[in-house]
Amino acid sequence: MKLVRAKAQLRDELAGAHGRGETIGLVPTMGALHEGHLALLAAARERCDVVVMSLFVNPAQFRPEEDLDAYPRDPERDAELARGAGVDVLFAPAVDEIYPEGFATAVEVGGPLTSVLDADPERRGRGHFSGVTTVVAKLFNMVEPDLAFFGQKDAQQALVVERMARDLDFAIEIVVVPTVRAPDGLALSSRNAYLSAADRPRAAALSRALVAAERAAQGGSGLAEALAAARGELEAAAIEPEYLEARDAETLAATDNFNGRPVLLALAARIGPARLIDNLVITPPDRVAGPGD
Ligand code: AMP
Repeated sequence: MKLVRAKAQLRDELAGAHGRGETIGLVPTMGALHEGHLALLAAARERCDVVVMSLFVNPAQFRPEEDLDAYPRDPERDAELARGAGVDVLFAPAVDEIYPEGFATAVEVGGPLTSVLDADPERRGRGHFSGVTTVVAKLFNMVEPDLAFFGQKDAQQALVVERMARDLDFAIEIVVVPTVRAPDGLALSSRNAYLSAADRPRAAALSRALVAAERAAQGGSGLAEALAAARGELEAAAIEPEYLEARDAETLAATDNFNGRPVLLALAARIGPARLIDNLVITPPDRVAGPGD
């Protein structure tokens, strides 16, 4: 595995692979690797000749009140895990390599994908996603991958990146990898490190809530009932969600019933200092819509 810090070196490193027409896969990460990241790397290893992992804690996607400096970092451990996962090139640039002095451009996806859920101005806001798409567009230009791998854990992010890739004609296949969970259901996240020992078991209520909604839907309940089942699980764990919403899984348009299309059930909640997100896509069995749907 080659550890690369500079863009020019990254290009040199990949020139041979590009010339030979090899398939290049990119896995963007902010480090503090866990099994979720490793699942992305395994998917990339399986489909690509050359796997590039980027490790960059991107200041542009943090809000001013979010503590960028407190974000968990362990670059040596990350490098070891990346090596073990078969990464060929680890690109770990400094902040000024990505945003040199005078940097003044942003890539922003507009429309509903970046005005709802996490992009709601009251929450992380559109600026968060513009921080993501700007850095991802830059990484796409630097690496010129054939495929790029993102986690379903950040469902809205994956949709926004897919939209950007289509709109800006990046000839890159976006692969979305299923969410990896702890045995109690908690979606793995670098931010789980912020959970206290007392809060860690409570956090499992997030996925329990989503599963309760899914079960209700599969049992024939309407969306309102399914959401109530989810809310019940959260209440039982004394968790007041920042949001718990059902939306069309592809467009993020509001939906108040199961209409045969996959529904994204997404939630965010603060548990102690950790702000956690999770989601599940529900495709209820075909059923006749009834009153209250
Ligand atoms: P991050 O380092 O948190 O920016 O995440 C890097 C990539 O890993 C993103 O595409 C995430 O969606 C993905 N990811 C994070 N957690 C998980 C998880 N539990 N399962 C699958 N993918 C994940």
